[in-house]
Parts: sequence; C-alpha cells; structure tokens
Amino acid sequence: MRKFKHPKINKPLDRNYFKKKANPNAKKALELTECCGEDIDRELVLNVKNKKDWELIEEYIESKLIEYSSTESITPISCTECGRFLKYQSKIKDPKGKRGWYN
Ligand SMILES: [Zn+2]
Repeated sequence: MRKFKHPKINKPLDRNYFKKKANPNAKKALELTECCGEDIDRELVLNVKNKKDWELIEEYIESKLIEYSSTESITPISCTECGRFLKYQSKIKDPKGKRGWYN
C-alpha cells in the first residue's frame, strides 16, 4: 500500500524574502519609519499630502459609500508626521439598530 504524502507547503514570501533575493548581502531587518513604524522601502504607499494620492483615497471612499449603504462614513487614517496613509476606518450602522453607529 502506498502511503499518501502530504505535499510540502511553501514558505510564505514576504518583503524580506524579495529584499534578500535582490540583494543577498542586505541586512535582514526591515527599515521602518520612525514616526509610524512602516516599512521605509514599501512601494505603492499612498500619502495624504500628495494631491493625486488623496484623490485616489477619495475615490475609494466614495465607491465604498455607494457600494455599502450601511457605511455612514469612512475616515482615512494617516500618519500625522509624514502623511503616509495607514488604513481606512469605517463608521458602520449597527445592523441590529441597538447601538446606533459604531466605528
Ligand atoms: Zn509616518
């Protein structure tokens, strides 16, 4: 009888993996911004101080407000120091209507 072998699971590929691949001698640790602790080398970062980025954020929020009627508002959370966009915080209507609005 043949024993079933589980396939090997690949390791997750993170930013360090590709950094190391691009430059095997690079230090392992990620460089983080001092103000908000984000990866300095991360690409495709939106910045609320950048007019074009802000427009993208606005467009995203508008589309979500149209898509989800239970969403009251969406706040773009960004670093107060460097303006780096961090996350969206949605204010959603409680589906049970007991607690009113919550974040
Ligand atoms: Zn920052």
